[in-house]
Amino acid sequence: MDLKNFRFETDADGISVLTWDMPGRSMNVITEEVMNELESVIEHVASDPAVKGCVIISGKDTFSGGADLGMLDGSARQYAEMVQTHGEEAAMQAFFDATRRLTLLYRRLETSGKPWVAAIDGTCLGGAFELSLACHYRIVSDGPKTRVGLPEIKVGLFPGAGGTQRVARLMQTGDALQMLFKGEQIRPQAAKAMGLVHAIAPRDELLGKAKEWIAAGNKGVAPWDDPKFRAPSGKVFSPAGMMVWPAANAIYRRETQDNYPAAKAILHAVYEGLQLPMDLALRVESRWFAHILRSKEARAMIRSLFVSMGELNKGARRPPAQPPAKIAKVGIIGAGFMGASIAYVSALNGIGVVLIDRDIEAAEKGKAHSHKLMSDQIAKGRAKTAERDALLGLIEPTADYAALASCDLVIEAVFEDRNVKAEAMRKADVVMKPGTIFASNTSTLPITSLAENAARPEDFIGIHFFSPVERMMLVEVIVGKRTGDRALATALDFVRMLRKTPIVVNDSRGFYANRCVLNYVREGHLMFAEGVPPAMIENVARMAGMPVGPLSLNDEVALDLAWKILQATKADLGADAVDPQQERLLDDLVNRHARLGRKNGKGFYDYPEKGPKTLWPGLSELQSTKSDPDHLNIEDMKHRFLVTQALEAARTVEEGVVTDPREADVGSILGFGFAPFTGGTLSYIDGMGVAEFVLLCDRLAKTYGPRFTPTDLLIEMAQKHETFYGRFGRKSRAA
Ligand code: NAD
Repeated sequence: MDLKNFRFETDADGISVLTWDMPGRSMNVITEEVMNELESVIEHVASDPAVKGCVIISGKDTFSGGADLGMLDGSARQYAEMVQTHGEEAAMQAFFDATRRLTLLYRRLETSGKPWVAAIDGTCLGGAFELSLACHYRIVSDGPKTRVGLPEIKVGLFPGAGGTQRVARLMQTGDALQMLFKGEQIRPQAAKAMGLVHAIAPRDELLGKAKEWIAAGNKGVAPWDDPKFRAPSGKVFSPAGMMVWPAANAIYRRETQDNYPAAKAILHAVYEGLQLPMDLALRVESRWFAHILRSKEARAMIRSLFVSMGELNKGARRPPAQPPAKIAKVGIIGAGFMGASIAYVSALNGIGVVLIDRDIEAAEKGKAHSHKLMSDQIAKGRAKTAERDALLGLIEPTADYAALASCDLVIEAVFEDRNVKAEAMRKADVVMKPGTIFASNTSTLPITSLAENAARPEDFIGIHFFSPVERMMLVEVIVGKRTGDRALATALDFVRMLRKTPIVVNDSRGFYANRCVLNYVREGHLMFAEGVPPAMIENVARMAGMPVGPLSLNDEVALDLAWKILQATKADLGADAVDPQQERLLDDLVNRHARLGRKNGKGFYDYPEKGPKTLWPGLSELQSTKSDPDHLNIEDMKHRFLVTQALEAARTVEEGVVTDPREADVGSILGFGFAPFTGGTLSYIDGMGVAEFVLLCDRLAKTYGPRFTPTDLLIEMAQKHETFYGRFGRKSRAA
């Protein structure tokens, strides 16, 4: 056998070891070539009487992340081409055959008559875990990085190489559906408890134990190929089955609002597959897979959440000529809400921190935040005391700016006040090492104007974190007019060290993410003013695909902050820049009723000490008019929520704030949860077609107001039949 991606050896006892070790890659992935080689190995093992069985193991320090999604995307493109050349039916058949190749390969392995064992250390996800599910025995290492799982749902797909069928035959149907819906990475103990793996072993005993299982004479027959096999939940049409399926449907609706075809396909594949023998069940799964792979949602999600996100993480926007920044220690000025969290995520990633506040007590309080977060992790069994001690050892709280002399990067997170920021920068400037980059975490103040107070404006940049910093994966890096390439490279390297995703935007009021979010919240306020029942505002926003309703979101960020932003906007841009109805509502809530949001337990919602939040009954009195909930146009409401954000994203492109559609899309999903099934704000427009979007905007503008008027750029693009990716994306990726 001519193998490039594997090594294949058979020992004196007739036990073969297939070591997956792709040259020139840090991680194994399933490619066309891997499938070809695997096929020849399977046939060899099946036909060589001298081979008793085979262990599959990785030659790298992790197992595999699964299939190359680029390959799947390629199949979809080939399909589109073939429709033109050979017609729909032939294209469908070719697509179906191509996309189920892995399924048939794994099934051939499973039914080869020889026992196969997967020996897993590190991550084993997606198509790679489906490979191990087809093996007759799975043994995982107890290493700290070992994880198994089927995360396909996160990019709008589902496990289509036997995953839905084998998982559903290994555990109770309800548990299987949950696992497939969540797509989580599962630790060894949990995987064993769920019945996903058979055994756990220390890393260096993994191969020995795997071989032992074959040597012990175990058979290469999957449980479901035994004629006596019964699925753990019994038959679909049985009293037990009827306990599962109606609830599963309801849970699917609640969790997805019917926006994710892949989740629905999982329900179909499991429900239909469990009523069939394995080979037919796999065929059903393949049909659904081919259907989903061609869906608009899967293509958009793969592009934004896999391809683009990967490219941004690898430094797509990093100035290539700049050497990697060395950041051993970061200085953080302001140990408040944001500063304390930035200190935590820095230390968590091994970076030393000088944490400064106006007095040592405030700085210590900021450090205590890290103590609390680590203690919570320890209580959940996710961290050890020694790790907490090591992390706290990295954070030096102080009120003395002189400590900044040892820092490689300084970030200020002091009050959102131009003068306070200028003062902090002035004090830092006199002590920082020559050439140290200084960043501001401001959420509203333009970077170019803040840089006027900097001694070296070319070394000044915005690094805008989102709250809660511990959980939010996006960081907006803001380039001012005079920001230099070295500052940009340093900021991007720092964000990567924190394992977050950066987008680079040019300076503007509210930058990118907050501009879109503020529009979303405003739309909720305006619906409220129109008399829409608050519960419907919240529910319809979730139906549109947003993770939280606009009223909840406003409560989280604070209503007085929304009020302050309106006042600042009015002061800077004039009274016409704010909507009087929105201003009246916020004035009522904040100034007349002291309802500031979650922070004082009183916002659109009441927040009792115990129990869930509930909408404040007094809201009803703030609505001078009431709409009849039975006659609301729900589709229009859904459109309004998404269009107002997408339109703002289009404006940021037109103004040159966002220059790369990948950043608008990835930023919108990671930064504010914009309906992920659309692929992000600009993919939402491209997916609908710009001309269609312009028509929709026109219609909404007529009914709901000029804020929906399409921009000049959109009208021009519609006339020229352009897309955002076609016009602003890299040529090779033009959609
Ligand atoms: P905060 O009030 O919680 O913290 C500010 C801290 O800065 C306080 O501890 C204060 O004592 C300290 N401070 C003030 N002047 C100082 C000085 N001269 N030297 C040292 N320390 C000083 O505020 P926050 O919410 O953490 O916001 C900080 C910055 O982050 C602001 O620019 C804000 O716009 C931005 N931001 C906030 C959020 C958010 O959700 N809160 C999100 C993104 C960005």
